Amino acid sequence: MSTQPALVLVEPGKTEVRQIDIPTPEPDEVLLQVNRVGFCGGDLNGFRGLFELQEYPNVLGHEVGATILEVGSQVPDQLKPGMNVTLNPYLNCGTCLSCRKGRPNACQDNKTMGVRRPGAMTKFISVPWQKLHASSQLSVRELALVEPLTVGFHAVDRGRVVAGEKVAVIGCGIVGMGAVAAAVNRGAEVIAIDIDDAKMQIAKLAGAAHTINTTKVDLHETLQAITDGDGPDVIIEAVGNPATYRAAVDEVAYTGRVVYIGYAKKPVDYNTGTFVRKEIEILGSRNCLGDFPDVISYLESGKFPVDAVISREVSLAEAGAALADWSANPGPITKIMVNLDNESSR
Ligand SMILES: [Zn+2]
Ligand SMILES: [Zn+2]
Repeated sequence: MSTQPALVLVEPGKTEVRQIDIPTPEPDEVLLQVNRVGFCGGDLNGFRGLFELQEYPNVLGHEVGATILEVGSQVPDQLKPGMNVTLNPYLNCGTCLSCRKGRPNACQDNKTMGVRRPGAMTKFISVPWQKLHASSQLSVRELALVEPLTVGFHAVDRGRVVAGEKVAVIGCGIVGMGAVAAAVNRGAEVIAIDIDDAKMQIAKLAGAAHTINTTKVDLHETLQAITDGDGPDVIIEAVGNPATYRAAVDEVAYTGRVVYIGYAKKPVDYNTGTFVRKEIEILGSRNCLGDFPDVISYLESGKFPVDAVISREVSLAEAGAALADWSANPGPITKIMVNLDNESSR
């Protein structure tokens, strides 16, 4: 069996390019040539040793833009060699309560590629056809952005955002950017909040009506001014920091909704009277649920600032160093993408 290079997260703080086997597709699988893989905030936390689900060593990568090379004998006709696709990297158990309730994104034994099973940061992977989403209009680069954007789209769905509402998104990394885009797409007036001006510029390109840099102006006063003293109808937290967790409930309007996507790494102190007095809803949001087609058609509309979001493109050989750089200096980076097109072929 021939082998191919893959980026392996060996242990916290250490990556290596190692040779792995080139897979042979099963009858219900599709062999993909991987063209682009994005680095995720989850990869960053795995690299930092801060992601409790991360297994080591493991091939990284779950944000994939690929081309179909071969299809197994049981794969339906609509998937054909040459098509550009992305994939759903989650694998739910099918039997836990969440799965039985039709909420596989909250599966109690979910295994995401690159986290609890081998990822896609290599040249060829084989995937069950049911996991694929194709687009005849999107480039492999755009397709690699679909999965991270679905996470923000799902959060906006959880928050039941409707046209005309004022929606604040705290944190404008790629996940927050997906929430900005999804809320704008629903006709909301979006307030993007971050500590980095470059990210907020991108949020504006994605349609945010207002931006707030909390290192320069007071969050509370600025939100009050934008919302005529009411506070935002919905606040989506995409940072995972105790201070932003608290700010979300403190700043949301009476009867508003708070959606948490970020994982706070420390316990958060709340004045719980706020929950009751304002009668707010507090919602968790995990991965995505049926959001792939929505994100694909949104990207096909051409409204998303793809080029501005991709901060850097690197080769597989440079990928480990790029992840270490990102870890050392996360501020201005939205998305690092690994370009595998020039890796040696089979
Ligand atoms: Zn991701
Ligand atoms: Zn399950």
